[in-house]
Amino acid sequence: MTQDADGQLACDLCGLVVEKDRYIIHTRQTRLHFCCDGCQGIYRMLHQPEEVPPEEVELGAEKNGTAP
Ligand SMILES: [Zn+2]
Repeated sequence: MTQDADGQLACDLCGLVVEKDRYIIHTRQTRLHFCCDGCQGIYRMLHQPEEVPPEEVELGAEKNGTAP
């Protein structure tokens, strides 16, 4: 994840501010945020990240409140 000084997310492909945090790729190591669905698609094509369900990322990072 990339953050600029204002604490706003920057697109992991083009570096623009992510206005709507809805284009996300979850990998085992991190979450990648994109400004648009085009950037998300291009990143997938270029890097072919190993995507995992969001739950698996949560487990590593923060585990409060979501246990069954
Ligand atoms: Zn972008």
